[in-house]
Amino acid sequence: MNFLWKQWHNLPEAAVRQKQAARLRQFLRDAVLPFSAHYRRVFQEHQLTARSIQSLDDLAKIPFTTKADLLNTPEHPERTKEFVLIPDEKILSRRSGTVLRALLEGRGAVRKQFEAEFRPVFMTFTTGRSAEPVPFIYSQQDMKVLAEAGRRVMEVCGAQPEQRLLNAFPYAPHLAFWLTHYAGTEFGAMMFSSGGGKVMGTEGTLRLMTKLQPDNLIGIPTFLYHVLSQAVAEKVRCKNLRNIVLGGEKVSDGLREKLRELAQEIGAENVTVLATYGFTEAKMAFAECQDIQLSRARQQAAGGGARASDRLLTPAAQSGYHLYPDLGIVEIVDPKTGQPVPNGQPGEIVFTPLAARGTVVLRYRTGDCTDGGLTYEQCPVCRRVVPRLFGNISRTSEIREMKLDKIKGTLVDFNELEHVLDDVPQVGAWQLELRKTNDDPHERDEIILHVQKLDGADETRLARDLSERCFNTADVHPNKILFHDAEKMRELQGVGTQIKEQKLVDHRPKPK
Ligand SMILES: [Zn+2]
Repeated sequence: MNFLWKQWHNLPEAAVRQKQAARLRQFLRDAVLPFSAHYRRVFQEHQLTARSIQSLDDLAKIPFTTKADLLNTPEHPERTKEFVLIPDEKILSRRSGTVLRALLEGRGAVRKQFEAEFRPVFMTFTTGRSAEPVPFIYSQQDMKVLAEAGRRVMEVCGAQPEQRLLNAFPYAPHLAFWLTHYAGTEFGAMMFSSGGGKVMGTEGTLRLMTKLQPDNLIGIPTFLYHVLSQAVAEKVRCKNLRNIVLGGEKVSDGLREKLRELAQEIGAENVTVLATYGFTEAKMAFAECQDIQLSRARQQAAGGGARASDRLLTPAAQSGYHLYPDLGIVEIVDPKTGQPVPNGQPGEIVFTPLAARGTVVLRYRTGDCTDGGLTYEQCPVCRRVVPRLFGNISRTSEIREMKLDKIKGTLVDFNELEHVLDDVPQVGAWQLELRKTNDDPHERDEIILHVQKLDGADETRLARDLSERCFNTADVHPNKILFHDAEKMRELQGVGTQIKEQKLVDHRPKPK
């Protein structure tokens, strides 16, 4: 492509912002404004043109796009389609360079390039449980960007081409599976995709792990926790395992530590647990990095070191998600005012692509909030100079309105409870279930906490401890705490039956 593409991991903030503004201007002029019905209208309404973006500060002139904007409604049954770039031949023929290219390479070649740029060839869907899934369309050009983003995930995570990878994301039309698939082929490493719990099940995944002896295990944290716990129970050995790469769900430090401990019990010393962050609307994901030399040294020194379980559950030294400034712009804004916040400040993650075709959203509000913000400092671990996204990411969809008493509704942040529960060493798998008292839709809401306790912990004491921790964090006591064995927890979470395992389920009947 061009200079920025090649230098994506070596640009200081001022250069990044300048190049992003130039690229955005070009992207708006050549692809979005001529071919997106939605943004053509929005820009007209706000009297904006591509030239309105002179520096990256001007990005704030473009209105946000939200999840709701993408949903079809009875009044606007074609809304989703209005975000797809649909080319117009007349406009394309006037694009700068088109005539010259047609002269040099022939009209057929030019037509082929336009087809590759715009023709839909693939799609993934959003995974929201509350709303209808929204399709996100890809052209061949998008597939190249997807593969490149995937390759960078592998590079940042420190994978090596000679390593073997097991992709345990569910076979589904979702970003996580396909990004991982193309990451493997583009990077050129041996990857096997198990299809997750619903396809091969925990048993099948374990057989595969035994046979393949992967260096990298990639999947959804909840499912990988079950796989590794079962591996320990069945005395499976998986000594080659070096990296566990997590995606599709947010990851707490407590869970990272638990996964590391389980890996150690199946013979994998000093496994690195890395998280990725991605979403359908970005058509890409970003990863935490590791110091390859340090990781190799640790691998060699493994064997005589301290057991992971001897260590305290302290936050890992996380490097942040490494962004690709040539492929998209990440902003952090105040979720209430929508104003961009300074570097390092918490806020909501907003995304604008720079190379997308197919479905395109500008200034997309993810509804995901990070408590760490954005930094442009050189990464102390891998030395790359890229913008990085820091902190714990929580989803606004996991803040639920609860009727805990008869008088008023209370907002409960289940993001916070997740961290609390993952951090308790005696807790294995868990699930929060929302119900109505007596299943009566007019009654109060109840929170039931299902827990698998570990290491023969005392139930009464653990229940008291958990109840207190929940109250200290989210101001709620669970109405009931029920203890189950691993098998029952797998059943509750839907391992092997659901595409994605569930940690928060809402069984409240809707009033008729
Ligand atoms: Zn790094």
